[in-house]
Amino acid sequence: MRRTLSALKIFIFIILGLSLVFLYLQGRVAIVQEEQYLLGTYFRIKAQSRSHDHAHQAVQAAFAQASRLAEEFSRTGSGSLGELNRRGYREPVKLSEDVLTVLEAAQRYRQLSKGAFDPTLGKIVNLWGFTQDWDRSGIGRIPSQEELEPLVKEPREVSLDMATQTARLSSATIEIDLGGIAKGYIVDRAVEILKSYDLDSALVDAGGNIRVFNDHPRRVFWWEDRRPFRIAIQHPRDESKIISVLEIWGDRALATSGDYQRCFFADALNNIFPCRYADEPGMIRYHHIIDPKTGMPARGVISATIVAPTAMEADALSTAVFVLGERDGLALIESLPNVEGVLVTDDGRIVTSSGLQGAHFPAKLP
Ligand code: AMP
Ligand code: MG
Repeated sequence: MRRTLSALKIFIFIILGLSLVFLYLQGRVAIVQEEQYLLGTYFRIKAQSRSHDHAHQAVQAAFAQASRLAEEFSRTGSGSLGELNRRGYREPVKLSEDVLTVLEAAQRYRQLSKGAFDPTLGKIVNLWGFTQDWDRSGIGRIPSQEELEPLVKEPREVSLDMATQTARLSSATIEIDLGGIAKGYIVDRAVEILKSYDLDSALVDAGGNIRVFNDHPRRVFWWEDRRPFRIAIQHPRDESKIISVLEIWGDRALATSGDYQRCFFADALNNIFPCRYADEPGMIRYHHIIDPKTGMPARGVISATIVAPTAMEADALSTAVFVLGERDGLALIESLPNVEGVLVTDDGRIVTSSGLQGAHFPAKLP
């Protein structure tokens, strides 16, 4: 009788102990992931925290910020960028703090890239049919030289007055398009909100503009080591493949610009076919990243990935480097501190900047 009682006690202790361990582990890690369609892209936020509710609240607050900003950066919407595009060539237009910050940064990247990054290409991008709400089922069009030439030749200047927070456009043929930089900025602002919630770690991904942070790496088991984020780089010609995986530690951002994201094909008779990853024999691919010198889709590089401290920097630089091409693009990357890059050229070579030479990249597309 006594023996049965102590066996029962031991059994109860074990069950209790196991339940406590289970509750402890459960309580330590909650991961919440949500997705919303904003600015023509899926925004995905993943947050890890002690409690599900806490992570959920943080993600909701970050999305509220992102959707507010998406309206601000719509080039035709009701925000101040839309206003600038409607009447900025007639009078100075007051900009919101966010639009002013990003437009000023865009001007800086325009200088830094010797004009390869250019936020004044809205009308040219529109001519190709890549309007803001273009989606993969949609197709574009090939503009005639008569349509393109005046827009390319016209000097496209934006004057910013930081004191009055206003901007003016030098001509009616300009439309400001911050599509190459604004998503990165929005990602950074969403991360700011997530950080204010004191999360363990989080990831924000706006269609390949990614930022991660790992402020309080929490180990579920004591033998577990701190883990990096593992981020795959998309194969530009095969949707089901990746080129390689980059390991990212701590607070870092990564962005990819590619000719497979928004594109269309034209055959010899200029019949148009929808965008896809794989090349189409006998057809020409036209895409959304424009060389400001010609008004035509930039050629030479088919994918440019940048790792940088902030998502805005990675976003602007990935677009700039795509346009600059292999030699000048790599030179720009090497000239900047804390910036690395991976390029895929149109002949299938994979080229990395000096800081990524140790990472495992194949020399050619897999
Ligand atoms: P991303 O995917 O970040 O490379 O951005 C591409 C988007 O930026 C395009 O869809 C256009 O809206 C805009 N864009 C196209 N060409 C350029 C350029 N040369 N400089 C800056 N923005 C551009
Ligand atoms: Mg970009």
